[in-house]
Amino acid sequence: MIAPPRKLISALSIIIIFSAVAAAQETPLHPIAYRLSMSRPASHLFEVEITAELPDHLNDKAIEFQMAKWSPGRYGVFDFAKNVQEFRAVSESNARLAVTRVDGQTWSVAPGGASIVKVSYKVFGNDLSGTFSQLDTNHANYNGASIFMYVVGHKPDAVKLTINPPAGWKIVNGRTERPGQTEWQFPNWDVLIDTPTEIAPDWTQDTFSAGGKKYHVVVHSFGPEGGKRPALVRDIERIVRAQVAMWGPPEFEEYTFLIHFAADDRSGDGMEHLNSTQIIEPGALAEPGIYEACLGTVSHEFFHVWNVKRLRPGELGPWDFTRPLTTRGLWVAEGFTTYYGHLMLRRSGIWDDAQFLKQQALTIERIESAPGSRLMSAEESSLSAPFVDDAPHAQLTNLQNTSISYYPKGQLIGLVMDLLVRGRTKGKSSLDDIMRDMYEEFYLKSPNSSYYLRGRGYQTEDLERVASRRAGFDLGDFFKRYVRDVEVLPYEEAFAYVGLRLLKTQAKEPYDAGMRIEFEDPREGLIVNVENDSPAENAGLQANDEILTLGGRAVTRDSWMKILARYKPGDSAPVTVRRDRRTIKTNLVLGQPERFDYRIQERADASAEEKTLRAAWLSGR
Ligand SMILES: [Zn+2]
Ligand SMILES: [Zn+2]
Repeated sequence: MIAPPRKLISALSIIIIFSAVAAAQETPLHPIAYRLSMSRPASHLFEVEITAELPDHLNDKAIEFQMAKWSPGRYGVFDFAKNVQEFRAVSESNARLAVTRVDGQTWSVAPGGASIVKVSYKVFGNDLSGTFSQLDTNHANYNGASIFMYVVGHKPDAVKLTINPPAGWKIVNGRTERPGQTEWQFPNWDVLIDTPTEIAPDWTQDTFSAGGKKYHVVVHSFGPEGGKRPALVRDIERIVRAQVAMWGPPEFEEYTFLIHFAADDRSGDGMEHLNSTQIIEPGALAEPGIYEACLGTVSHEFFHVWNVKRLRPGELGPWDFTRPLTTRGLWVAEGFTTYYGHLMLRRSGIWDDAQFLKQQALTIERIESAPGSRLMSAEESSLSAPFVDDAPHAQLTNLQNTSISYYPKGQLIGLVMDLLVRGRTKGKSSLDDIMRDMYEEFYLKSPNSSYYLRGRGYQTEDLERVASRRAGFDLGDFFKRYVRDVEVLPYEEAFAYVGLRLLKTQAKEPYDAGMRIEFEDPREGLIVNVENDSPAENAGLQANDEILTLGGRAVTRDSWMKILARYKPGDSAPVTVRRDRRTIKTNLVLGQPERFDYRIQERADASAEEKTLRAAWLSGR
């Protein structure tokens, strides 16, 4: 949702961008120059200067500099302005200009007739993340939205960036054209912040070509690599080839994977950009599972090259960074990307059929056992993104019981929709076709709707229309029941088309009595969530109670589920918890089994036709 005044700016800027494209080096209307320095890495303070030339008719009006409240790709509201300090403004003759802080995110400068306004500020950054930025003695790694202010009303204007690295540190990003480059031109601020950048003395770069495009794998390792980097680069190439085989050639000439192995057991992220991605793994490459986790993130983020960064919900760019995002489309943007992230690991040969199907079954278990699945639809989950996507909460919430994530939910909608379309059309159409149709109609062929990007965004109804057209049957009922409402997806029908079935069995430990317990210490279990209308809630147990005994037995990390599993529905067991400074005794009356395992199995009677459909689905051929 873009505020109306900005629409006028957008229309104007389309003309500017078109002429900029036609004559690449023409001077933009408002050259806005950014300079980034980092003279004291241990302070974690990025030093930013922004120079704006004001045309005569603007040099007596206040000019506002604004820090975004959040960053594209992560929808929690973080208020990056909280880390800004020492904001100053001067004129071309270095005279101090008056600065007024207008609100939490906005600084207003009175030019007083100056033709150049130069502002400077420092911004603290010490998080290695696709959303935030980090400056320390190892490196500088930034996500532009968390450090670069925009000039209010001038986001569409061309910008220039100069980086002053510490001596011996090298700069790299997805728009680097030559070694030693320290200056970049961007068509607008949105593309500036879409270009995450790494600056350090010791990152490595491997390069490969696929389909006539160049791919760079930049790795910064803070722990041992165990000699795995060459294999990692080869497997990334396999993923790239599998995805290009589905979509066709990507629009860019070069693409950069910026990968950190943080080795801090804390930092982990993946963030998509137009010509690059930032991937941060919390372990060292040499450690078990880290290589595989990295490939999983690579497959997800690279799929975003098409789904999200170019084919996008209508509200995904240009953005209004003064308010949280509102879109109903993240179950497609993130959920379908999660589905294809897995499928592409299979199609590239990195996973086998069993690994892929096991991953789908795990997601089914996650969704079907979440109480929020019956309360929150896929569309509503998308609208709740500012609350659920890594959003910080000072106030306690009930979101664990009421919300679901659009990542796994959208993954399952994609999986089931793909199989229904493949099955009902006897393999003539698939979700692959639908996604290609969407890309063509909204990205490649629609007139540009703004300065920001080619084409226009879509609405859920557009996908419903395009999917129904390609499938040859009406998907209206599917969207109504599984996208806008909370019905259980038709897994049985979907899997049957490819000779599979979903097996649901009671878990070995069938109860958790509606409470989630975390054992920091093997002997002290803290109740972190109590499900609504559950045995735990009926017994008066609450989050933050510390569970001591059940049925007279001391509860430990190892014994808790086993003790619970001894009871049958209807049994009553005394339970003791510590709440603040008191010890409380109550009775837990067990309910029906609530924990199930899911497995996807080959059907013994699968026909040759169903097996052929399955092979086409999993291989992409
Ligand atoms: Zn780094
Ligand atoms: Zn994603």
